[in-house]
Amino acid sequence: MRVTVIGAGVAGLCCALELAERGAEVEVLERRSSLSGAGCSWFAGGMLAPWCELESSPPLVAELGLEGLAWWRTHFADATVNGTLVVAQPRDVAELAQFARRTRHYEELDAAGIARLEPELAGRFSRALYFRDEGHLDPRAALGGLLAQLGARGVSVRFDSEASPGMLAGRRVLDCRGLAAGAALGDLRGVKGEMLLLRLPELSLQRPVRLLHPRWPLYVVPRAPGLYMVGASTLESDDGERVSARSLLELLSAAYALHPGFGEAQVVEIGAGVRAAFPDNLPRLRWRGEVLHVNGLYRHGYLLAPALARRAAQMLLEGRQFPEVMDEDSRQRRLA
Ligand SMILES: Cc1cc2nc3c(=O)[nH]c(=O)nc-3n(C[C@H](O)[C@H](O)[C@H](O)COP(=O)(O)OP(=O)(O)OC[C@H]3O[C@@H](n4cnc5c(N)ncnc54)[C@H](O)[C@@H]3O)c2cc1C
Repeated sequence: MRVTVIGAGVAGLCCALELAERGAEVEVLERRSSLSGAGCSWFAGGMLAPWCELESSPPLVAELGLEGLAWWRTHFADATVNGTLVVAQPRDVAELAQFARRTRHYEELDAAGIARLEPELAGRFSRALYFRDEGHLDPRAALGGLLAQLGARGVSVRFDSEASPGMLAGRRVLDCRGLAAGAALGDLRGVKGEMLLLRLPELSLQRPVRLLHPRWPLYVVPRAPGLYMVGASTLESDDGERVSARSLLELLSAAYALHPGFGEAQVVEIGAGVRAAFPDNLPRLRWRGEVLHVNGLYRHGYLLAPALARRAAQMLLEGRQFPEVMDEDSRQRRLA
């Protein structure tokens, strides 16, 4: 079977790979000239945190996310699984208790436990939650890794190729355009996320650290040695161009609260991406005519894309149904 995938974000590339691994002849069309700066996927933190996400998501996200975490371990050698540390300032310990109530699969740490795990945070926090089985990756390296695997399988990824499902009538199309598919899907909205890259060679954190705060929850994800992604705002907006002074102030203040060394960090990048979300913030595989849409990955695109890609490939190639990620009308349409 020949399939055209529109969009080379994490959803499109995972779908293309799942299809190619099942023997389909696949091409990917991407409107940008390279992966760099391409869509929301470029700006992500890369946390693979199924258990932490339970804090604000239903169990389905954790279930699909566990599948995603396992997938990355077999498809991207640099995916790291050394846990997530969740901390709060003493005045915000109520936030930590609430986070613990909503999530699962963590250990409670005291100050000594925190110091053993992240020596650079010694003496800064007295309590933490440690989600040992969670992971993280560098999203930009992961996208490059997927591209290389697709190349090795003979999949052509054509950049500078603006496409619409209408142009591709008669072909099997998987639409992974993220927010750009809004007109076709109707109920998609943009949720902007602003982020920073900070360089601080003197600091050595080993794993993602989330700092809980009633107004500015923040996380820091280690990249290359001494390089940290700091994220992220969650704003109801589809303006991916502008980073506001307020967001910048909040991200920097929170990073400084996590470790004052960040006051001396070099600001390497300030960026923003717009996450595509459905009203319930859950992802969907949705038919529109003969086109299958994979969308609504919201704050969990890296975590969820593999599980959705696997299901999308099985729907296209084997006619299978996956009610947990399909709307009623898409299910009825395929049954008819
Ligand atoms: C600041 C921030 C932090 C995040 N952190 C995490 C995290 O830690 N963990 C996690 O799991 N998720 C995270 N996310 C969420 C994750 O980034 C998204 O869910 C994911 O990137 C969505 O991927 P996508 O492929 O659906 O969309 P996109 O990445 O937007 O990709 C869509 C692609 O389609 C292309 N396109 C659009 N229209 C056309 C067209 N007409 N023709 C051809 N190509 C087209 C675009 O150029 C783009 O490349 C974060 C997001 C942000 C913004």
